[in-house]
Amino acid sequence: MTAATREIWFVTGSQHLYGPEALKQVADNARAVVAGLNGGGKLTVPLVFKPVMTTSDDIRALCLEANGNPACAGLVLWMHTFSPAKMWIGGLTQLRKPFVHLHTQANRDLPWATIDMDFMNLNQAAHGDREGGFMHTRMRLERKVVVGHWQDAEVHDRLGAWFRAADGWADLQGAKFVRWGDNMRNVAVTDGDKVAAEIRFGYSVLSHGVTELADAVGQIGDAEAERLCGEYEHQYEVGKDLRAGGAKRSALVEQARIELGMRSFLKAGGYKGFTTNFEDLGALKQLPGLAVQRLMADGYGFGAEGDWKTCTLLRAMKTMARGLKGGTSWMEDYTYHLEAGKELVLGAHMLEVCPSIAAAKPTLEVHALGIGGKADPARLVFSAPPGRGLNAALMDLGNRFRLLVNEVDVVVPPALPKLPVARAVWKPLPDFKTACAAWIYAGGAHHSSFTQALTPEHLRDFATIAGIELVNVGPGTDIERLRQELRWNEIYYHLGQGLGRV
Ligand code: MN
Repeated sequence: MTAATREIWFVTGSQHLYGPEALKQVADNARAVVAGLNGGGKLTVPLVFKPVMTTSDDIRALCLEANGNPACAGLVLWMHTFSPAKMWIGGLTQLRKPFVHLHTQANRDLPWATIDMDFMNLNQAAHGDREGGFMHTRMRLERKVVVGHWQDAEVHDRLGAWFRAADGWADLQGAKFVRWGDNMRNVAVTDGDKVAAEIRFGYSVLSHGVTELADAVGQIGDAEAERLCGEYEHQYEVGKDLRAGGAKRSALVEQARIELGMRSFLKAGGYKGFTTNFEDLGALKQLPGLAVQRLMADGYGFGAEGDWKTCTLLRAMKTMARGLKGGTSWMEDYTYHLEAGKELVLGAHMLEVCPSIAAAKPTLEVHALGIGGKADPARLVFSAPPGRGLNAALMDLGNRFRLLVNEVDVVVPPALPKLPVARAVWKPLPDFKTACAAWIYAGGAHHSSFTQALTPEHLRDFATIAGIELVNVGPGTDIERLRQELRWNEIYYHLGQGLGRV
C-alpha cells in the first residue's frame, strides 16, 4: 500500500433512539466536520466519511472491514449523540487499526436564546464521548484524545500530528528491512529481539550476507557509475580532484557503483531500509558513505553496525515527516564540548548523515578513514541549520521497547576545517547535564534518529499507536522525577503486558 492510497475513516457514533430525522442531521453534521478537517490543510492522509453507527452489528462489521482494508490507516471516532458503549465492545475487541478519539461538537456556540431539548439531545458529545471514553479505558485501548471545536486550529494541529503517526505506522506494517551482515561484534544496544519487534511493530528484519551485496555492486558497469557521478556534479559542490580526470575520480566512481548496487538490491527485495556493518564489508572496496547518505535522502531507513532498530525508527520518522520543513537523519552522539554552562554535543557518524538536514549545498569529498581498513570513501560534508530538533532512540529492554526522545537546540557550529564529515551541533534540553543523565538513566542508545521536522507529539502518538513506552526529555524535565517515572514504568509494563507479550 503506497502513501498516496492511504485513508483515515471518520466514524460517528449515535443510536436509533433519536429517530431518522435526527440521524440524518447527525450524518450531515459529520460530513461537514469531515469536509472542514480535510480542508484545513493539516491532514496528510484523506479523511473519509463513514455511515453513522447505530447498532453493534454495524460497528462490528465496520471494524472488521477496517482491518481487512489495507488502505485504512486508522479511524477517527466521535460520538455526536449518546451511543451506548456496550454496542462498541464487539467491534473494538476486533479492531486492529489505530484510532484517535475526537471530542468535538457540531456547533461551536450554544444558541442561548433558542436552545430547547431537541437541541440538547442532538448535540450530546459532552456525555456521548464520555460514555465512549469509558469503554476505551475499560478495554485498556491505547488512543489519543483530541478536544475542541473542529474548526479550532489547535484541533487540526493535534489531529494532523496523529495522522502523520498513523501514516508512519501503516508504512511499517508488512515492511521489510535488510541487514547486510550481522550486528557489530559485542555491541549491545544495537542488538535485540527481532521476533518481538515483528510482533510489536509489524515489520520484518532479514539478513543477507554482504557477499550478495558485493555481487550486486560488482554487476554495475563503469559507464553506469560514471553517469551517476555526472549527477553528483550537478547536485553537490565537487572539487577538481573528483571531477573527470581528477586524481580521486576513481574513488568516486567506486562509491557510485556501491550506490547503484545497493539501490538494485533494495528495489529487487522491496526493502524500506537497510543496515551495514563496517566490520563486515566483504569485497566492498569502500565503506558505503555517500551511497548511504543519498539513499537516506530518498526515504530509506538506515542503521550502521547492524542497528536495525534505529533503521526502522528512521524509516518511520521519515514517513511521518513527509512534506514538513527540516530533515531527518541517522545520528550518533559523537563527542562533547564541556565548557561549563555552554556544553554542546557534536553529533555525526563515520560518514552516514542524511543530507536532508544540510543547511547549505553539501560538498562531496574523498578522504582516508582511519577505521575499517578499506579504501578512502566518498562522502557528503555539511552542517545542520540552527533551530529546535530532537533525537529519538528505540531500545529493547528485554520485556518491552522504550522510545526515548530528547529535544535539542541545534546551533551553528564554529568553523570545522579539519573535520570531513557531516554533523549537527546541539544543546540538549533542558540543559546538558540533566539531558545526558536522563538519557543514560533511561538506557538510551548511542545511535538515534535526529529530526528537525517532527516534534515530541509525533513520537508520542507513534508510541501510543505501537503500544510502547515513551520517555520524553525536554524543557521541564526534572531528573529525580524522571528516575521515578522510569521505576514506575518498569512495574506498569511488567504488569500491563505480562508474560508472553512484547
Ligand atoms: Mn555508530
